[in-house]
Amino acid sequence: MRPPPAGSRAMRWLRGDAQDRTRFADMYLRFRRPYVFGGAVSVAKVVGVPWFGLPLVALFLAGGLTMLGAVVVQRRLRRPSEPVVAAAVLLLQLNLAVVVLLTGGATSPYLVLLTIPLFSQAVCFRPPVLATGAALTFLFAGLAVLFADTLPAVPAAPSTVGLVAFGTVLLCLTTAARYLASADLHSRDGAVLDPMTGLYNRLTLADRFVQAQEREAATGGSLALVMCDVDHFKSVNDTYGHARGDAVLQELADRLRTGLRSTDVAYRVGGEEFVVLLPGRDAAGAQRVAERMRAAVADTPVAGLRVTVSAGAVSAPAAQASLPELLRAADAALYAAKDAGRNRVVTGVPGQRLVIPPHPAAAHPLLVPPLT
Ligand code: GH3
Ligand code: MG
Ligand code: MG
Repeated sequence: MRPPPAGSRAMRWLRGDAQDRTRFADMYLRFRRPYVFGGAVSVAKVVGVPWFGLPLVALFLAGGLTMLGAVVVQRRLRRPSEPVVAAAVLLLQLNLAVVVLLTGGATSPYLVLLTIPLFSQAVCFRPPVLATGAALTFLFAGLAVLFADTLPAVPAAPSTVGLVAFGTVLLCLTTAARYLASADLHSRDGAVLDPMTGLYNRLTLADRFVQAQEREAATGGSLALVMCDVDHFKSVNDTYGHARGDAVLQELADRLRTGLRSTDVAYRVGGEEFVVLLPGRDAAGAQRVAERMRAAVADTPVAGLRVTVSAGAVSAPAAQASLPELLRAADAALYAAKDAGRNRVVTGVPGQRLVIPPHPAAAHPLLVPPLT
């Protein structure tokens, strides 16, 4: 498991746990393109001096540069950064509050624009941070409206400005909804399940690997993969029949699924072969998960039979990982586990020697009679 985020209490509140950070990186990468487009449009408003006047155009320019600057800083840091995004959102809110202040407060056609920073960026954050962002938006709007009353009245803006502001919010909302919906559809499209076990299948593994790699590479994390195979499974079929073999595979799948945390997902990649993708784990972490899986099978009968599994656990830095290479390495580790006597986990890092642990347990050489 990744260590909890370092830093002050405020930083921990902002970043949340490892899962929040993964989600933040995922959402940030999804929204980056429309966000850059919004920043560029803000900067392009420079051509609108005759319509908007110099002070407003200067504020739009500052807003656009804030948005683009945040993207540049994060590229330099080589990962999506919560404090940078939070600072950009705050600056944009302040910037827009000043625009509202200078253009009539409650009657300003720009008031509605104050909602944009929240759903263009803050949507990446975890719920308490998002709620705080919403409260701050309301506070800034309230202050701008109150203090605008103390300033000299400004002439009403042409109604087209109000319409453009409304259109801008509509466009941002539609874009945000489209990206959120496509994120959801993408995950459902990929939900190609193996009908017998209800686990994801090999095709889905390829799809999910790409997503996990992008997220982990963005945060400098690693990707681990465990491949496990039922020992002497042919003799289960030969001795107890294919239907009993199916029942064993179904119960095994349930046991794998329920023993994993939500970000670790199991796939059925072959007849009696399973892969678990473990984002953010190093080789030692993958070894621990695989060992827990092995013990969960060996220690309690599966569908009334004593069966065991062997596993190969591998990990690589996400930026350099490839699915075929990790699968090859996991396969090599798995077969080393079979060679070493089965019912064990062999750990490896691609390109390095395998770690074959001494293990007292061996696979049950012959199946004992069923317990039920
Ligand atoms: P090892 O310990 O070396 O893995 O031995 P094994 O007998 O498990 O290895 P092998 O790969 O030779 O056998 C796998 C068997 O799994 C062969 C095949 O009949 C069985 N099998 C594959 N898919 C299914 C399935 O969906 N249901 C059942 N019941 N059996 C299956
Ligand atoms: Mg096999
Ligand atoms: Mg087998």
